Amino acid sequence: MRLRGTMEIGSQGHLFIGGCDTVDLARRYGTPLYIIDEEHLRARCRRYREAFARADNAEVIYAGKAFLTTAICRVIEEEGLSLDVASGGELHTALRAGFPPSRIYFHGNNKSPAEIRMALEAGIHRFMVDNLYELELISRATQATGRKAHICLRLTPGIEAHTHKYIMTGQIDSKFGFPIETGQALEGVRQALASPGIELHGLHCHIGSQIFETAPFAAAARAVLEFARVAYQATGWVPEEINLGGGLGVYYVEGDTPPSIEDYANTIIEAVSETASELGMKVPRILVEPGRSIVSPAGTTLYTVGAVKEIRGVRTYVTVDGGMGDNLRPALYQARYEAAIANKMHDLPACTVTIAGKYCESGDILVWDAGLPLPEPGDILAIPCTGAYNYAMAMNYNRFPRPAVITVYRGQPDVIVMRESYEDLIRNDVIPARLQREETRSRAVRA
Ligand SMILES: *Cc1c(COP(=O)(O)O)cnc(C)c1O
Repeated sequence: MRLRGTMEIGSQGHLFIGGCDTVDLARRYGTPLYIIDEEHLRARCRRYREAFARADNAEVIYAGKAFLTTAICRVIEEEGLSLDVASGGELHTALRAGFPPSRIYFHGNNKSPAEIRMALEAGIHRFMVDNLYELELISRATQATGRKAHICLRLTPGIEAHTHKYIMTGQIDSKFGFPIETGQALEGVRQALASPGIELHGLHCHIGSQIFETAPFAAAARAVLEFARVAYQATGWVPEEINLGGGLGVYYVEGDTPPSIEDYANTIIEAVSETASELGMKVPRILVEPGRSIVSPAGTTLYTVGAVKEIRGVRTYVTVDGGMGDNLRPALYQARYEAAIANKMHDLPACTVTIAGKYCESGDILVWDAGLPLPEPGDILAIPCTGAYNYAMAMNYNRFPRPAVITVYRGQPDVIVMRESYEDLIRNDVIPARLQREETRSRAVRA
């Protein structure tokens, strides 16, 4: 396993993160446990800001869907990033954390009238509008509330980035955005300009996630600017800003070769300035929305090893006390991870095993082929790079409570999400009157 961020190996062969012994953390907080290396998270935010500092007035917007809690909102705010939310729930999280609405961007391909109203009333900075129907809903909401909506249009630029098809979003056949080729994007610009309550500021595209090349980002920038030129000729409108979404990949396993944040930033900055000068346009502000590449390397999940089952000549299953409920990515898109035994970091790999979860699905496998020292029940297994799309996608299948999340920072651990209890699992369950027995009825009356 490659060490990331503040990871170190202590004298007893224990994995340390943020100056804390992970074996102690597992004992103190229980497992499964998500750990966020706050120093590393902050460092990633800073690298992004510095990499884009040479572009005039650029903005880095953290894509909250990767991992959002109220404490994370505070860190993102302190590091000077803006925030992209994609639902009423994410918006609520940000607002409750006191995140400034003037730095919130609202995404989503089917925002409800209630979500639109909530965002308008909160005074968010931008609606990232996905389709004509949404434009109509926002227009109606501005009339009903008397508030102005500031928007960008999300385009599908027809760029195919090489990544898993479930996380490819720039191609023409996509549920996201206004297609350029069919004329819908131009229609979107026209309708936005014609709506009195709406102010159109810019254009957006997001071509996918976990991308290992810089060329598709340059191609996307070019496609958006070329569309801007067409829109200018048709309507006289000039975008102030172009937002190129997120999507920069990260290293999960050997063979993954993501570009650096700096290479990514330079590619985008150059593509935008070159294309703008070729087309005779003013260089717009550049905005980006990284999620995974900010938070994923800052996260590690700890598990306790349980049953170890060797099927001679076939495979050895090492079962842990979590699985697809805390990390859906392997089951959802064959995502791969490294692993280590946090209490045996000095031991050499001695076997190749399959790390299985405890959910009732054969597909509940976290790592198919992990090279590890001999695992024994009670060992603490660490899977790194789980900061993005892990807790964010966690669920309660089999009625396993969702794990706790802690930050570690300069030797100090802090809980930022409490472990769910069994009582939390039944909190919203209701037994209708006709199914109640004497004792539940009296309990209902007491409640
Ligand atoms: C998911 C998403 C992002 C973030 O993508 P990452 O691959 O996590 O960087 C940014 N913008 C939009 C619109 C998204 O849907």
